[in-house]
Amino acid sequence: MYNYKKCYINGQWQPVNNGQEIDVIQPSTEKVIGKITLANKIDVNLAVQAAKNAFTSFSQTSKTQRIALLERIIEVYKAKFSLMARHISDEMGAPMNLAGGAQAGSGQAHLEQALAALKNSVDEEKIGNSLLYREPVGVCALITPWNWPVNQIACKVGPAIAAGCTMVLKPSEIAPLSAYLFAQILDEAGVPPGVFNLVNGDGINVGSVLSSHKDIDMVSFTGSTRAGVAVAKAAADTVKRVSQELGGKSANIILDDVNLPKAISAGVQACMHNTGQSCNAPTRMLIPEKLYDEAVLIAAKAANAITIGDLEDKSTFIGPVISQMQFDKIQSLIQVALDEGATLVAGGLGKPEGLEQGYYVKPTVFANVHNKMTIAQEEVFGPVLVLIPYKDEAQAIEIANDSLYGLSGYVSSTNHVRALNIAKKIRTGMVHINYAWTDAAAPFGGYKQSGNGREWGEFGLEEFQEIKAIMLKS
Ligand code: NAD
Repeated sequence: MYNYKKCYINGQWQPVNNGQEIDVIQPSTEKVIGKITLANKIDVNLAVQAAKNAFTSFSQTSKTQRIALLERIIEVYKAKFSLMARHISDEMGAPMNLAGGAQAGSGQAHLEQALAALKNSVDEEKIGNSLLYREPVGVCALITPWNWPVNQIACKVGPAIAAGCTMVLKPSEIAPLSAYLFAQILDEAGVPPGVFNLVNGDGINVGSVLSSHKDIDMVSFTGSTRAGVAVAKAAADTVKRVSQELGGKSANIILDDVNLPKAISAGVQACMHNTGQSCNAPTRMLIPEKLYDEAVLIAAKAANAITIGDLEDKSTFIGPVISQMQFDKIQSLIQVALDEGATLVAGGLGKPEGLEQGYYVKPTVFANVHNKMTIAQEEVFGPVLVLIPYKDEAQAIEIANDSLYGLSGYVSSTNHVRALNIAKKIRTGMVHINYAWTDAAAPFGGYKQSGNGREWGEFGLEEFQEIKAIMLKS
């Protein structure tokens, strides 16, 4: 049982002020596996004040000092890597293979990228006749979701520390375990008091207090577009910088020159990876009309072959979704797709056989989908793929861009030039050709309602910096 009821303020683990205790539910068993306490305005104010006080000295630390600090954090993170994987699996239902692979691994990768970006950064530049300095933006609120919990935390905390910012982290209240361990890691690594603070809480009572707080200079937010809009509105009165990493409904354009079984099966797996709970998942597969019928059969077969269940088994590909609420939302979107006339070719309503306990969803594929259907427009955030036919490349691009979102795009082709030409026409912040994996050194972020931020690597560092121009006259 995880007893994670305190908040971490000014370098101390402190009890929460009359906070409400809530259960942490393990998605694979639906059992209570831990307790946290939701902070309130008093705790948030204490945390912000601690970060504000610490900013005076931390913002003046040298690059060498911050490099040494990040190196210590990475060292402790590595020592706790397996424990981190266990926390992630317990809180959000990732199979241990994934939790101990990409999930915990991305946390380490972002810390290492922040370190590399800091090492490569230039302290002073000349522009025109003036000097240009990059300074920390100030006191930051970091608000994160549950789907890649440590990935999101590390890609904010790492660069914020590298830049010389101080911060208050509010992780997802649904998956708060890895954040607690992350705070313990920073504590053990000797992060100075007040530089990093952790408060648990929900969006309404803690997230919105942080977003509107007069002493917060920047909110770095990752989550749904709905909450991202609320954060931006709350932040507007105090003219904070708001960096938003929001939802997605990414198109996966399969060109007619591919090895069809390979490209379609890989697309099904990419969509279902992390149980479909990735903002950049390729959830709309666009297939040339002439190959459509064959592609549908391959996709259905690939979905039926997805291994689901025992999180400890190395061959398990996906686990449950995060919560009862998420399970219900996915079920209702599957029902809407059926009502709107899409053809179910794999999975569907209900739980997979033998997995009645836990929030397990059947890997589901819909054919005969057109892009105006709800299932093609709304982010499902579960293992649900739609297959949409297209006539020619121009129509594929048009369908890909016919979305409120603009996070990622995918193109599969044996011809790189052809794929690259299409990639340039897709209105998204990232495009993956032939399922190239995300790159921790490259900027991560979206266009349109997928947000306005660019995280990871050197672009992630820039987000936490102000630019100062000093004009000289002798
Ligand atoms: P969510 O928006 O419900 O919650 C995200 C965080 O925001 C949580 O910490 C929550 O407590 C907080 N929050 C909620 N309402 C708030 C408010 N009014 N003010 C301030 N904070 C508030 O999202 P979720 O369900 O945790 O995560 C899934 C969503 O996150 C999906 O839409 C997914 O696409 C998105 N996401 C985006 C990225 C990206 O980089 N673009 C990455 C991961 C997840």
